[in-house]
Order: sequence, then structure tokens, then C-alpha cells
Amino acid sequence: MVLAEHKGNLLGLNLEELEKFAVSSGQPKFRGRQLYHGIYARRVRDLAGLTDLAHEFRDFVAAGYGIFYPQAERHFCSLDGSIRYLFRLADGNLVETVYMPEEDRITLCLSSQVGCAVDCKFCFTALLGSKRNLTAGEIIGQVLAVAAGQNVPRGARLNLVFMGMGEPMLNLPQVLKAVEILADPKGVGVTLRRITVSTVGILPRIKQMSLAPVRPKLAISLNASNDEQRTALMPINQKYPLADLIRVCRAYPLRQWEHLMFEYVMLEGFNDADDDARRVADLLQDLRAKVNLIPYNSGPGLPYRAPRFDRVLEFQKILMDRNIPTFIRISRGRDISAACGQLSLAESGQAVANIG
Ligand code: SF4
Repeated sequence: MVLAEHKGNLLGLNLEELEKFAVSSGQPKFRGRQLYHGIYARRVRDLAGLTDLAHEFRDFVAAGYGIFYPQAERHFCSLDGSIRYLFRLADGNLVETVYMPEEDRITLCLSSQVGCAVDCKFCFTALLGSKRNLTAGEIIGQVLAVAAGQNVPRGARLNLVFMGMGEPMLNLPQVLKAVEILADPKGVGVTLRRITVSTVGILPRIKQMSLAPVRPKLAISLNASNDEQRTALMPINQKYPLADLIRVCRAYPLRQWEHLMFEYVMLEGFNDADDDARRVADLLQDLRAKVNLIPYNSGPGLPYRAPRFDRVLEFQKILMDRNIPTFIRISRGRDISAACGQLSLAESGQAVANIG
């Protein structure tokens, strides 16, 4: 087998780039469209399968290029049906993707960077440091590789959430390029309303994303009810404090069907008091917002623990009484280190590390 690094990878090229590629190879433009259809809609991995291409062009492409997905180095199966994939990229780096099947849909949690520079104190990905951004091809490759491994057909009810390793807003051009191809009905064909990008609140990038022609949904990782608390947990809050974050959220151009989603990782004795819930309600009062409460996934190495469940219910009630739709999300895949914040390239099914 020819290694990916010896050939160019067509995965991640958009329609325009593939059309240019065809023309620069002496072919009519529509050959690029055929490549695009084959790679993303038909999910062909072997160029020999692109039988609609002229024979000579197919041989020419195959001599220098291929369609290379990330290599699934290992995968870990949870008792709840989730699977955590450890993918090796062409340069040897590793990233993780989590497959979470439910009765009526499948959710994939995608990584956008190798490691992360943001340094949230409850997160083990942060301990890996920041290595590099993923390319659009490496992001799309996570989706196609898992879909191939799990026999997820085109047209399946698929949710994509950028909540894996990395801060997607710090890799926004490649994330948006990937989303365009993923959400294109002539591309991978995932419904745009089912794609969510989650951020700690990199404000200039939120504004930038609001202008994107193909725009995924926005989730904000809130996790605190005041600046002091949030800065202790998420140092990025010093640069983008809560008042500024909420101001940008108020100005965010929501589509008619859309809500802002606020994620709130609940840490016992830290951010789970009734007063916290009241302050969160005050912050979100005039926003078209929903809240996900995520009891922390504890493990060795970090000092936080999940609150008792009745505390989570009390917190939820205070928000609901203020008319803020609030859901409790119990993370999937805890036993395989795949739950929210646990992605740390752990080489076993044990929760050796934990993030939020
Ligand atoms: S929670 Fe997200 S943004 Fe924060 S350090 Fe972890 S991966 Fe990075």
C-alpha cells in the first residue's frame, strides 16, 4: 500500500479546488465535479472505483494522488455503545473521535486540533498542549472513517459536534471549509442544522463565524456564573470576560429556527450552588438560549468531582423557573475515557484522564 505522505491527498479539497485540479491536468472542469461526487457523496476510497472518470485521467490522478482517511489505530468500545477512535494522521500525530449511537440518531464528536492551547483547568486535552490545527481533510476524514467503520449510510440521521480535542474557533478556516463539504447535499450530505461548533468564547472568531455563508450552530462553553469563577477555570476569560461574551451573543444573528447552546460543566462545590444558577439565569435572561448541564466526569489527576444528582436537578429547576430550557446531559463513554473532557489519547479503556 502506498503511504499517504508519498502522494497528495484529495480528501479535503472543495469543489472549486477539484475543478481547478482537473483543468490544470488538461481535463474539462466537470471532471473535478465527478471527483467531488465520488469522494464525498459516493465515499469512494480507491480511485479505481471512480469508473465515471476517463480512464487516462483516472490513471494520471492515481499516479500522484489518493483519497486517504485517517488510520484508525485503535478503538475502545463502551458498555453504552459509544466507541472512542484513536486516529493516526499522516504525520504521525494522534487525534480522537467519539461515535455515539442512539435509538434514532448517531452523534460524532469531532476533533479540530491536535491537543489544545486554551488551558481550561478541568480538561485533560489541555495537558497535551497545542501541536497543530487539523486540515479540513483530516476533519472530514474523521466523519468518513467512522461512517465506513460503523456502516453509517449516507442519509442517516447524523449529528456532528465539534467538541472533541481542540478549540475549533482557533482553526476556523479549516473548520468552516470542512463544514461546507460536510453540509453540502452534493458533498457528504449532513444536515447543516445538525452540525454544532462549540467554543470557549473566542469573540472575534464568533463574529467571523456569524458571517460564514455556510454556518453551523454555535455552542458556548460557559461553565461559571461570574468572572472570578470563570477565570479560575478558563483563563481565556481574562481576555474575553463574561460581559463581553454575553454582548457578542446578544448580537449574534440567530436564524429563525436557532438557539444558542450554553454548555455548563457542573463541578461540586465550585459552580453548582443555587446562587450560581440564579446568576446564570441573569446572564442568559434575554437570550434565545438553551443550557446543557453536564455533571463532571471525574478521574485521577484533576481535583473536581460531579455534584450529587439532586443538586443538578435543583440547579436545572432554578433555570427552568426562569424560562430557560435546560437539559441534563449525562456523558456517554465514561468507561472508555470518551466522555466530555476526557479526550486525552488514553491508550486504554480506563478513565486515566479527565477533562470537561
Ligand atoms: S475544554 Fe476545549 S478549549 Fe478548553 S482546553 Fe479542553 S479542548 Fe481546549
